Amino acid sequence: MDKNTDSNATHNLFKHQRAMLHDVMQMNITLEKIYVDREDEQLKNIAQLKEMRDREDEQLKKIAQLSEMKAKQKDFYLSEINSLTIHNKLLKSKLDFIYGENLEKKDINETINLEKELKSILEKVSHYKDTKTKELQSKVNQLEDSLNCIICSDQEKRIAFLPCRHKTHCISCFDKQPPETCPLCRGKIENSMVLY
Ligand SMILES: [Zn+2]
Ligand SMILES: [Zn+2]
Repeated sequence: MDKNTDSNATHNLFKHQRAMLHDVMQMNITLEKIYVDREDEQLKNIAQLKEMRDREDEQLKKIAQLSEMKAKQKDFYLSEINSLTIHNKLLKSKLDFIYGENLEKKDINETINLEKELKSILEKVSHYKDTKTKELQSKVNQLEDSLNCIICSDQEKRIAFLPCRHKTHCISCFDKQPPETCPLCRGKIENSMVLY
């Protein structure tokens, strides 16, 4: 073999190997870039998934809080209903007692207590009735006074003075002694008229 030819062949082979090595390296760089990009994308996806899971966790927490609140409300209403039921039973037995229901089931002490309570209620009612009657009577008196003559307090006011139009006198008291000035406004009476 020729020594030159041999050296050339070696040189070519070497060159060829270097070119191949370069290609492989280039390919590696490209692949690495693709891998890095994919890794970035995957990291982004993982971050998004984590965010979604966090949101779901938060919603679940809110739902749990809501149901806890509802349970508490339910307990509250149930206890309200219970106390109202007890209250109703007490009122019912009190009413039964006052109305003398099931008297045959009461012993003598209970009957005496009932009598006492009814007497005290009757006293309260009587007192209230008396007070109210007095009030009404005094209102009736006031009304009658306002309708009756201020001189005799007996006959109805029937004379209107002019020009003030006030009424204070019945016909007979006015006829007996007609006033010159109105007793209410002190105005001069110029004329009078009889009201029917
Ligand atoms: Zn009169
Ligand atoms: Zn007058």
